Amino acid sequence: MDEFGMGSKNLYSKYGPARNPFRPDDTVGTENYDYSPGGSSGGSGAAVAAGMCRVALGSDTGGSVRLPGAWCGIVGYKPTYGRISRYGLVPYGSSLDTVGIMARTVEDVHSTFKAICIPDHRDMTCMSESLRKRINDMAKSRPWVNKLYEVSPGQSLKIKQPLKGMRIGIPRECWVEELSEPALESWKAGARRLADLGCEIVAVSLPHLPYSLPTYYTIALAEASSNLARYDGIRYGWRSSEKPDDLHNCNASNKYANTRSEGFGIEVQRRILLGTYVLSAQTCEQYYIPSQKIRRLIQQDFDSVFALPNALHAESASAKSRLLTRRPAGVDALLFPTSTNTARLLESKGKNQAAGYVNDVMTVPANLAGIPAISVPAGEKNGMPLGLQLSAQYGDDELLLQIASHLQQ
Ligand code: GLN
Repeated sequence: MDEFGMGSKNLYSKYGPARNPFRPDDTVGTENYDYSPGGSSGGSGAAVAAGMCRVALGSDTGGSVRLPGAWCGIVGYKPTYGRISRYGLVPYGSSLDTVGIMARTVEDVHSTFKAICIPDHRDMTCMSESLRKRINDMAKSRPWVNKLYEVSPGQSLKIKQPLKGMRIGIPRECWVEELSEPALESWKAGARRLADLGCEIVAVSLPHLPYSLPTYYTIALAEASSNLARYDGIRYGWRSSEKPDDLHNCNASNKYANTRSEGFGIEVQRRILLGTYVLSAQTCEQYYIPSQKIRRLIQQDFDSVFALPNALHAESASAKSRLLTRRPAGVDALLFPTSTNTARLLESKGKNQAAGYVNDVMTVPANLAGIPAISVPAGEKNGMPLGLQLSAQYGDDELLLQIASHLQQ
């Protein structure tokens, strides 16, 4: 994986990058064509895709399970924030971090999820039993969804229109300039498939979505700079053995500087610097505070399109009455591409790193909103896999997995 989960191409692993088991058809028989498995959990993605294991865990702070899922032609699932304990996971951006699951089928993801989706007092952000119960009660009180739970996923696969009554939203803002033709085609094919299965497909708008990427890269880096402060050679991590060459250098701050310069890779150093900058007194009001406000607006955009009210904010009585009569344009899930293109070449670290951050444009919104999202394999271009993403309301993981099991081919 990329060091501390920071990356989208697996280029920043301390041990060198993992390689994608796929390569474009037209490069077969030629030398030196190594494609990225995606990042940051690229090793997990490559291992599952190559058949080395049936299921792998990854960490998803901004898409690190879903992007490798798409680029390696497997399923990558990021649950609702707080569903799976993060005890033992090294923190990157604590308000965004989730443990995700990768496998070749949605069914394998689902059974793994059921086994590890339990409360854990060792992670204080892990959902309590009572919140889990409230979410489940809310989710199951939708008359049009109830049907789906009455049959097992295996059985429902045999029903002609198993998703009848379900409404799927297509977010207009995901139609970004960078979207490649194959990704657009796979998106259209996915929508057609869900329509055939009985879903009603509607266009929706999430007006603040275009601000997701800069918002994510401000908040994630700020949290990273604070989380990684503990790697100072005293509390955790590498400690420099370099001897100060003269007495003037023999102070604590030089020792810290050497320790952190030697111990962190180049991308991690860059992010600590940027994160510390956006949190500094002079710039906090300019970058960090506005990003927090935009994050709230993005969360509200999602709440405004889903039929299911957000269990974190909904008053139970009014939420219940809203559930019985569907909100006018409410959708049960959203469908959009996981990435703008197929896997990229594993070239050496380029100069313009910000350009690499664009790979995350489709995946970071779900982390900002804390909602579940899953990437399923959806076609290919020149032998390279593409992924489609489904996302649902906070806590609606079971429905999301049900719909995803039908979307997978
Ligand atoms: N590529 C994103 C980043 O570098 C997401 C990483 C992740 O989800 N761990 O921040």
